[in-house]
Amino acid sequence: MGGESHRIVPMAKDYPTLAAGPVGKQIRNLYQDRLRQFTDGGQYREQGLLPKIPEAVASGPDYVKLSVYSPPHLSRPLFKEAVKHDFKPTNVGESFGPSWSTHWFKVKLTVPKSLREYDHLEFVWDANNEGLIYTEEGDAVHGLTGGGERTEWILPKELKDGTEHTFYIEMACNGMFGNAPGGDSIQPPDPNRYFQLHTAEVRAVNLEARALYFDFWEISDAAREFPADSWESHQALQICNKIMDTFIAGSGSKESIKEGREIANEYLGDVDSHKVYDSDKEEIVTGIGYCHIDTCWLWPFAETKRKVARSWSSQCDLIDRYPELRFCCSQAQQYKWLEQNYPSTFDRVKKKVKEGSFQPIGGSWVEHDTNLPGGESLIRQFLYGQRYFESRFGQRCKTFWLPDTFGYSTQLPQICRISGMTRFLTQKLSWNNINNFPHTTFNWVALDNSQVICHMPPAETYTAEANFGDVRRSITQHKSLDQDKTSLLVFGKGDGGGGPTYQHLEKLRRCRGIADKTGLLPRLKLGGSADDFFDRLEKKVEDGTELVTWYGELYFELHRGTYTTQANNKRNNRKAEILIREIEYLATLATIKKSYDGKSSYKYPKKDLDDMWENVLLCQFHDCLPGSSIEMCYDDSDEIYAKVFTTGERILKDALAELGFDDDIKADSKLVALNTMPWPRTEIVKLPPIASLPSYGLAHSTGPGVMDIRPLASPYSATIASIKEIRPNVFELRNSQFKVEVSNGVITSLYDIAASREIIPKGQKANQLVLYDDKPLYWQAWDVEVYHLNSRTPLSPHKTSISEDSPHRVALDIETRISDKSWVKTTISLSAAVGNAPTYVEMDSEVTWHETMKFLKVEFPVDIVNTEASYETQFGVVRRPTHFNTTWDMAKFEVCCHKFADLSEHTYGVSILNDSKYGFATQGNVMRLSLLRAPKAPDAHADMGTHRIRYAILPHAGGLSEKTVQTAFNFNNPLRLVGHAESALDRLAPTSAPSLLSSLRILGAPNLVLDTVKRGEDDEDVSRGELPVKKGQSIIVRIYDALGGKSVGVLTWGGLRVKQVSKVNALEDEIEDLTKDVVGVGAESGSASGKGVKIQVRAFEVATFRLVL
Ligand SMILES: [Zn+2]
Repeated sequence: MGGESHRIVPMAKDYPTLAAGPVGKQIRNLYQDRLRQFTDGGQYREQGLLPKIPEAVASGPDYVKLSVYSPPHLSRPLFKEAVKHDFKPTNVGESFGPSWSTHWFKVKLTVPKSLREYDHLEFVWDANNEGLIYTEEGDAVHGLTGGGERTEWILPKELKDGTEHTFYIEMACNGMFGNAPGGDSIQPPDPNRYFQLHTAEVRAVNLEARALYFDFWEISDAAREFPADSWESHQALQICNKIMDTFIAGSGSKESIKEGREIANEYLGDVDSHKVYDSDKEEIVTGIGYCHIDTCWLWPFAETKRKVARSWSSQCDLIDRYPELRFCCSQAQQYKWLEQNYPSTFDRVKKKVKEGSFQPIGGSWVEHDTNLPGGESLIRQFLYGQRYFESRFGQRCKTFWLPDTFGYSTQLPQICRISGMTRFLTQKLSWNNINNFPHTTFNWVALDNSQVICHMPPAETYTAEANFGDVRRSITQHKSLDQDKTSLLVFGKGDGGGGPTYQHLEKLRRCRGIADKTGLLPRLKLGGSADDFFDRLEKKVEDGTELVTWYGELYFELHRGTYTTQANNKRNNRKAEILIREIEYLATLATIKKSYDGKSSYKYPKKDLDDMWENVLLCQFHDCLPGSSIEMCYDDSDEIYAKVFTTGERILKDALAELGFDDDIKADSKLVALNTMPWPRTEIVKLPPIASLPSYGLAHSTGPGVMDIRPLASPYSATIASIKEIRPNVFELRNSQFKVEVSNGVITSLYDIAASREIIPKGQKANQLVLYDDKPLYWQAWDVEVYHLNSRTPLSPHKTSISEDSPHRVALDIETRISDKSWVKTTISLSAAVGNAPTYVEMDSEVTWHETMKFLKVEFPVDIVNTEASYETQFGVVRRPTHFNTTWDMAKFEVCCHKFADLSEHTYGVSILNDSKYGFATQGNVMRLSLLRAPKAPDAHADMGTHRIRYAILPHAGGLSEKTVQTAFNFNNPLRLVGHAESALDRLAPTSAPSLLSSLRILGAPNLVLDTVKRGEDDEDVSRGELPVKKGQSIIVRIYDALGGKSVGVLTWGGLRVKQVSKVNALEDEIEDLTKDVVGVGAESGSASGKGVKIQVRAFEVATFRLVL
């Protein structure tokens, strides 16, 4: 010890010697629970702060004079049309309806003298439904959502002059979530709801009292939500109690409110303007305003068009008052609707886009489903989306924005990258109900190894109410803090709520205030963009931060019923995709033909194709195609698809005619089959019912293009099919490849003759229909829950009969009763095998379905052992477990497939093909195709009625190969029989139709699929002028590796005069000139001699080439 000097402690002379009285330690929960009294609407409301906010009110016909026009038949006329009609006087207190009807109000407003002294006046309108305010000239100015969600419009100063002013309100008779009865918004809508207009008035607002309300809200949240062992929580509690005590002491006077604000300032700092965000301290959370408007869901598309106008005009208004607000908005389709129906609002948006406050994002046409659309559809979502954004706003999007969809296909990162996007924001995975997804910010890696930075906001919502808790969870629920602590907070009311509100912005200013003045809350920033956030992350990665990776699909452990619900809609999607592919291919060839013979007036039907694509893309919206919308949406989508098919058939006919074909087959037509698949086919085809023709013919070709129809007795027909009843109710179907035994209506034996292999395990039954009880926990149309597997009930067929016995094709009809209301008639058929062209056992089912909460599937037990099954997905296959080892494996008890699912061993396998289905499960050795569901919400009649479903069993030697890939394509693209004028067929010049149709193909790499052939978007003879025109003609060819193997091949164009070849991205931007790699191709390769380009395609790569003619 030592060195210490003796210190003299001064006496605290002023500290009272005697205690003044007892002081107790606060009973925390009482002092905390008390806080609600100050701002809640309960029994103490009138004693609290709320009544202090409105200072004066003017209502009634002297000040707010109303008249109304109610358009007939639930129509939704636009402003111009509506205001032409007579308006009849009406009053507050009247009710308007029924559900989905529209009512236009003329409002004549006079601000009384008594209110003119107040600075801040609001017009308040509430009828518990949605509305949109228009100026007298017809410009939309502000949206309204009833039930207190967004009911006020700040009156412009010029309306305060004491004279009468007129404006209009368009009332829509639906709530923000449609018209469900009672409190359960997913129940089918009540068609007869009426809405009472209960408030239409002008209010003067005490802004100081309102500010204190927000101060108190946030600080009391800090008291409740900060950890109880933090001083910050205790201090918040003290401050709130002090504010209340001061208010009570001052009897709620303006002075006491002002004092309350000063007390709040000790915790918040100055939060009265956007300058709260001006400090240079490091920000952790970036707040982005957003309005998730489901393009259809619990309301039809027509209502969405208005929701967009309502929401976005409110946002333009809010941005003017809160300069820190950045509002991002996805879905090109919604912009296009606004542009068409609300041009002045579109201009307002355009101006804000230019200023940077309104931020187009996402790059896609709609926020689409990613499980079900085909690969080319996913690409077109971006092609159409990005081209729209570029043409209207001069910018493409860098961030794919899809917060709400039901699972994420494994090739999305690649499709993003080739569509100009390097990042991805989503959210829905936090709804997983089995496993908690472990990352917030990570690299998501596609099948082909392409990556995007993925971020899932840790507040776990894309419609945050911008509460204290949302900001706090942005750090407490952040799962990637080892790599990066920042995150996005996506806030704003979705759907009919119109996006962020002033309340959100007031709350967020205070959250930032707390972070700076007190601490503990992560520092929030407004004023940036999602792109800024990702830019910084990209920079960080560049500087060495290694983000965690996730390879393959982001399987969503919920909403697995969406692979099956609304079967008709899904079938239409598949058929439309297939039809468009064929049209684009033929129309491309037709325009090229023209460039050779130059005579025709044929023009690439770009507008029709754009319309078809935009409609198909629209119906891929994430509540439409998955089947989770109300019945009205499917009435709409049925109409949309019908239009797509009508247009499609018309332009297909035109293209065929241009190529010298006639799909209206007459008795004297020379009949041919058209193979638009890029590989040879040999098939038995059913011929049109013309007297001179036999029932079947043999279509054969050595490559794509025109196929001759030959009689079956040609050298190619090695064997014929046969059928017989070998024992009572046991039938045997045979061709040269398979022997099929059907006992009591189910397949009990499927024998591969060449492989000497029985495929059905002894005693088991294939093509067995099974019925499950299907009552998920809540989301009926969306979910099938794991316990449905417990209720498996095999259905027994009651009648089997031979329906066809010809050498070309044999068939059995099997009838199965599901209940007294529902039944299935399945035709099992086998065609004659021709050489070693693959044949399969085909099932063509007609189902009459009137069940309640049941799930119909069909099972195929097979003698194959593998812990993984393969499922076709967009541009490849995804492998998933066939077992339940872990909870992650078990969660995949129902998965998505496209045209096939496959279970294979090294030496042998079985593929199940389908023409319109997407749900599948492989449990051990049982493969199970999902057919139909019967949910009753939100569409009470989902899937009721008749369905036609085709599927097939394709056994194959060896593992999964191009045989399955190609057969599945063929199964979905039946050969098209057309008539062919003899003279055209005789024209064998390289430019004639037959050789045009066989020019494009890939040589040397059977795993590559030449998927899409189309014209260049901006070719001078194609362009519709949205973007700069490119000189000349070009063909876009998209190729992918379907099976996962790097490949070298030749893309040949036969005799076409191609001047230049390049690799391009999905947006058709040049990547690399490949003209140097052009090679000659000899006739020995199976196609006409000509030229081609050597290509190299990575495993599962999607590669696009541009051939310039
Ligand atoms: Zn949604």
